Amino acid sequence: MAGNPARRPHAIMIPYPYQGHINPFVSLAVKLASHGFTITFINTQSVHRRISHAQTGAVRADLFSGARDSGLDIRYATVCDGFPLGFDRSLNHDQFVEGLIHVFSAHVDELISNLADSDPPVTCLIADTFYVWGSDIARKFNLVYVSFWTEPALVLSLYYHLDLLRKNGHFGSQAKRKDMIDYIPGVGAMKPTDLMSYLQADDICTVVHRVIYRAFEDVKKADIIICNTVEELELSTLSALHRKQATYAIGPIVSGFSNQGVATSLWSESDCTPWLDSKPNRSVLYVSFGSHAHTTSKQEIWEIARGLLLSGVNFVWVIRPDIVDSDEANFLPPGFENGMKGRGLIVQWCSQIKVISHPAIGGFLSHCGWNSVLESIWSRVPLICFPLFTDQFTNRKLVVNDWKIGINLCDRASIMRDEVEEKIKYLMSGESSEELRNAIKEVSRTLEYAVTSDGSSEKNFRVFMEDIKANIKKKAGVAFDVQDQTIGHLWAPTAVKQTIVSLSSNLN
Ligand code: UDP
Repeated sequence: MAGNPARRPHAIMIPYPYQGHINPFVSLAVKLASHGFTITFINTQSVHRRISHAQTGAVRADLFSGARDSGLDIRYATVCDGFPLGFDRSLNHDQFVEGLIHVFSAHVDELISNLADSDPPVTCLIADTFYVWGSDIARKFNLVYVSFWTEPALVLSLYYHLDLLRKNGHFGSQAKRKDMIDYIPGVGAMKPTDLMSYLQADDICTVVHRVIYRAFEDVKKADIIICNTVEELELSTLSALHRKQATYAIGPIVSGFSNQGVATSLWSESDCTPWLDSKPNRSVLYVSFGSHAHTTSKQEIWEIARGLLLSGVNFVWVIRPDIVDSDEANFLPPGFENGMKGRGLIVQWCSQIKVISHPAIGGFLSHCGWNSVLESIWSRVPLICFPLFTDQFTNRKLVVNDWKIGINLCDRASIMRDEVEEKIKYLMSGESSEELRNAIKEVSRTLEYAVTSDGSSEKNFRVFMEDIKANIKKKAGVAFDVQDQTIGHLWAPTAVKQTIVSLSSNLN
């Protein structure tokens, strides 16, 4: 529209209300704001309350006030997810997800209506790909719709091509095919056991399946898809997706590096640094199964615990109180904590990136959540993979089969302490450890280069921002006057390099 004053793009960002989604969303918000975007970041009221309570200091009404003090235009709002604050969303998972499907969008709709007088006006919606309503809301408010995918492109592509998996009998048929899947555009042949857990399940009518069916149709209506991955690692998968619609790899968006002090943790963090400082370089195994899994049985925890003791290595083990599907408060084997004899530290939560960047860390026994995989590569720490559900099986394939930067712990049906011991020793010592370390160093270099000014992710990020502006112009007819903000240097290559040096002192 000729004659409109030049404006800054204003994006509303809404992560899925889980830790592994909030973290990359916050980092991306800071990055976009440091490139001249106005951002309104929206957390659910429940997430806001949990993050606030997890802070040891005073409860902050606005999690982004620190970022704003440093010159970024990031505004903050909270929205009701449809449930009372006291409702246990973890315990009542299915009911909660039903609410996210059917009720949450009405609250988002109302909030966006209330932002109608914003200056600059809201022009873009960046919503998590798992939401089923992104395109409807964007269309209603004439916003550019960016779907932010926080997992690898491989997982996106498999969900995106669910129709092909169905048609070929690898999903949704009584007798699921067991042979290789070799028809997904851009994806090499893979085993059905490497599919995401939901695509291997017998019951495919659960609430999560209904989210999947709707969300991965909705993503096809997005103006732009961005992925927290790196082009060089998933080139053919990304190219095939990009041929269908604009898809940009802009990762790694590694949590905690450039968050401008924005709190994200849903649990209070224990400081492991003094304990780690007392341990030799690369002598400690970090063990964590992420923020979400609570499907581990007490028996499995016991086998892992005993395997850890048998291995003789030092360890930091993050055990969230709700990791086990049982009411028992103490689910560690009797005598375990005495048996650790100073070799182990158990915490409920920590700053993972800070811990695995410590020189004392030599390996990561992980559930293979995608953020954990990226953070481990970034910190050059090889992995033992113990996937529990969702994309973690597919991520393990990338780690173990494709990039060879980690090993598989076991077939889930048969976790045994001897195998745990053996795999830990394989990862932490000898020639095998060196091989894995060399492999992860190579992949890590790819990640580091991707975020330099000549790297693929930085280039993609610039194209992505131009694409947003072009789409806004097309929809609303506005022109832009965007300058990088004073703290734009945070994302300059030198700053990234410094971050690598200061946080990953176990590089070589
Ligand atoms: N995390 C953390 N402290 C912990 C455990 C996890 O800060 O004690 C962070 C971790 O750094 C990552 C996120 O929580 O950014 C977990 O995301 P991921 O995708 O690895 O797994 P999910 O929790 O989604 O299963």
